[in-house]
Amino acid sequence: MATLLARNAHVLVTMDGQRREIAGGGLFARDGMIEAVGPSETLPATADRVIDLSGRVVLPGLVNAHHHLDQTLTRNLPAAQERNLFRWLRAHYRLWAARTPEASRTATLVGLAELALSGCTTAFDHAYVFRNGCRVDDQIAAAREIGLRFMVSRGSMSLGESRGGLPPDDCVEAEDAILADCERVIAAYHDPRPGARLQIALAPCSPFSVSAELMRESAAMARRHGVRLHTHLAETVDEERYTLERFGKRPVAYMEELGWLGPDVWFAHAVHVNAHEIACFAGSGAGVCHCPCSNMRLASGIAPVRAYRAAGVKVGLGVDGSASNDGNHLLAEARQAMLLARLRIALRPPEGPDTTLSTSDPSRDGEWMSAREALELATLGGAAVLGRADIGALEPGRCADFFALRLDDLAFAGGLSDPVAATVFCGPHRADLTVVGGEVIVAEGRLATLDLPAVIAEHNRHAARLAALAQ
Ligand SMILES: [Zn+2]
Repeated sequence: MATLLARNAHVLVTMDGQRREIAGGGLFARDGMIEAVGPSETLPATADRVIDLSGRVVLPGLVNAHHHLDQTLTRNLPAAQERNLFRWLRAHYRLWAARTPEASRTATLVGLAELALSGCTTAFDHAYVFRNGCRVDDQIAAAREIGLRFMVSRGSMSLGESRGGLPPDDCVEAEDAILADCERVIAAYHDPRPGARLQIALAPCSPFSVSAELMRESAAMARRHGVRLHTHLAETVDEERYTLERFGKRPVAYMEELGWLGPDVWFAHAVHVNAHEIACFAGSGAGVCHCPCSNMRLASGIAPVRAYRAAGVKVGLGVDGSASNDGNHLLAEARQAMLLARLRIALRPPEGPDTTLSTSDPSRDGEWMSAREALELATLGGAAVLGRADIGALEPGRCADFFALRLDDLAFAGGLSDPVAATVFCGPHRADLTVVGGEVIVAEGRLATLDLPAVIAEHNRHAARLAALAQ
């Protein structure tokens, strides 16, 4: 029975029901689960491991709800730097299909390392290109090596160009093989228990890269096994045009027809939606993962995050693929979410005859996203869309997943009148300490579980091989 006592934080942000921020706070955990949170003097006096959090702000571990870790191999690709989604995808598909299992493992380590150093403790990865011997098992092995809590999809693409899809035919798989491997991966790896380190989701890639039959089959299989469903949706105007032309429906209506609106589903992006579609998400319990950097990078649009939240839609946050971000910094993504929500105030005037773009009207103050709301998206929001009641907050019964930032770091200088908001407003920040299930992953600002320089060198060799293929 391993116990952990972390105490004396300058301030500990709980994200509990009262959103308590505890000066001098700490927590006590046993076997990776929190037993007590409160002022340090109220906690047990000792434990197997004791961590002093003096001079640090402590937050619940961040939850990344949408990503493609393998894309770390192809970030910043010159041929795709100024491209919108469809052209950007066409520039990348064959490179991703040409990666090796060893490259996939290494990219997963690099992406998760960067996430851990930004305070992320749970990462979902939407893996969907399985060619050249790559299997989801490669990424699972890497996640275990570095120690993050991991949810990964056995995703898929089955609709090649010859059948009206976007990806080249040699990048997609046969649907029978996809479904058989989905069964295998769920049986081998999915852990439904509270505190699970590893879970599986099913995630056909998008309306323009899989068939309606595969969407339906995937949903039926996921519901048979109690695993979650995920896909890209309503990311761009091009996608909306595609589903209108091909199915006579907008993307959300297409999902509804396929049985894909439900509390076990979350969609990446969901940028281009109307008020009725927001209400459909709210009514069905479907969630959304907001990916602000990617949406800006690819000029996709601005998701109506405040409208989602006002309607009661679950919203998490994701850095999205490293090739459309081009980083893995989740705390920086929270900052971008806050800033982009503010930009939307100016671009989307309130209803009514006076559609001024002025943001000086005090009646619009409620539209502003705060730093604390951005942190909520990155913690409780992510936990909600992943269907996890055991992460996202620091309170008894949840996992001992948290991270700490040093208040004497350069990024905080001058911003200490509100250290919690400074974690979002100021930056960039680097986690001093990241703990997953009571185990230290980052200590003193460095990965404790990896020889990071060696991993980076290997990763750059794999990336250079793929970059050469793009020439
Ligand atoms: Zn994505």
